[in-house]
Amino acid sequence: MSKPVVSVVKVEQPKGNAEFMGGKFVRYEEDIKKIKAAVAEAIKLSIGSLDTIIKEGDTVLIKPNLAFQAPPESFAVVDPRTIEAVVSYVKENSKAGKVIVGDNPSLGMHVGRAKPAFKDSKMEEAAKLGGADEVIYFDETDVVPVEIKDAKVFKHATVFKPFLDADVVINLPKMKVHLAGTVTLGLKNWNGIIPNCHPDAQQQGAHRIELGQKMADLYRVRHADLVIVDAVIGMEGQGPHAGTPIEMNLIVAGADTVAVDSVACSIMGFEPMEIPAIRCAGTEGQGEIDLNKIEVVGNSIESVMKHFKRPGGDPIGMYAGLTCAMQQTCPGCHVNVRGALDSFAISGIDMKKFLEKHGEVVVIAGGVPNFEPEFCKDKNVFICGDCWELFPSADKVREGAALAKTVTYYPGCAPVYIFAQLNNDLQKLAAGK
Ligand code: SF4
Repeated sequence: MSKPVVSVVKVEQPKGNAEFMGGKFVRYEEDIKKIKAAVAEAIKLSIGSLDTIIKEGDTVLIKPNLAFQAPPESFAVVDPRTIEAVVSYVKENSKAGKVIVGDNPSLGMHVGRAKPAFKDSKMEEAAKLGGADEVIYFDETDVVPVEIKDAKVFKHATVFKPFLDADVVINLPKMKVHLAGTVTLGLKNWNGIIPNCHPDAQQQGAHRIELGQKMADLYRVRHADLVIVDAVIGMEGQGPHAGTPIEMNLIVAGADTVAVDSVACSIMGFEPMEIPAIRCAGTEGQGEIDLNKIEVVGNSIESVMKHFKRPGGDPIGMYAGLTCAMQQTCPGCHVNVRGALDSFAISGIDMKKFLEKHGEVVVIAGGVPNFEPEFCKDKNVFICGDCWELFPSADKVREGAALAKTVTYYPGCAPVYIFAQLNNDLQKLAAGK
């Protein structure tokens, strides 16, 4: 059997990168041309031509990673220049009847919706500049119940209809690290095909300890026909939302998502088996995870590799005076509290002053067998998730809450929206509201 092909193509140095990485996104026509040339080369090297996947009159959905309602300068979302380049290339070099761009954000930085997220990220503008026939806010469309055949844990999904209706799907993730998924690439990008309403829509349920398995299961709903990874400027450190940009100037592409993700994560300095979603999908045979069985064309992994800084997923001990009481807690709450505290940290808050003015903070999740209720006396207590009530320590948590100065609950499992909400509530406390 022939090996899956993954192309790794360099983008000629974009003029706008320095300004962009300095905090100001500027669109230069020449940069679109450079990225488009790399996209063209990556497609040619990996699948030959768009004609191999797009028939005359097909509706083509380009599914970017619109993870958050965030500006391009956050580097948490796909580079608008790459969106424009890909849309424009597909419009000009295929017989597609319609090219649409659609997605639904996660609940990270804002408990937000697709429309403002498309606007703030400048993706909508970029898609239109590229000639997209339509930009679809998935959360304003119908969902369809889907039984996922051969799934291990995510057996029933509700999936946005335009995703299922499209004749061809192009997966357009960004090269980023992720504190829950280790990296977020093509497989993790399918998180946007399901709803995110808090506290208990499907995106939340996907973010417990079995995140990798659930993403592998969700990928079974429908594999992408082509994956194009936006690796012009990646994100390292505290991804998926609070990390720092890393200049790569690459496009990575191929028809096998597992193979593309395996190559892309290796370029970031990770082993494919380190990444839960790639490991699950790869060992299940949804694609090729073994680098020896993938044909890498264009540039070798070694010649373009940069070791991305790893994200820390542990919220405990980040600030004196902000105590995380978490002992029997799965990564669903653990890493999402870390995500919230990362959001808080990048807001530039002076934590010392905050604590002097507003008192100490206690964040509780899961079972806390060694917890002393008295510790909560006159403090601001935040209680995360649903499962704390199921543990023998639940009465201790209730007693602690009764002694606290303020108490805030975040129901749900996993309460992914605390990325935004716990941060917002801490900001409100800081502002004395
Ligand atoms: S509520 Fe419990 S099981 Fe659910 S994500 Fe939080 S710690 Fe995990």
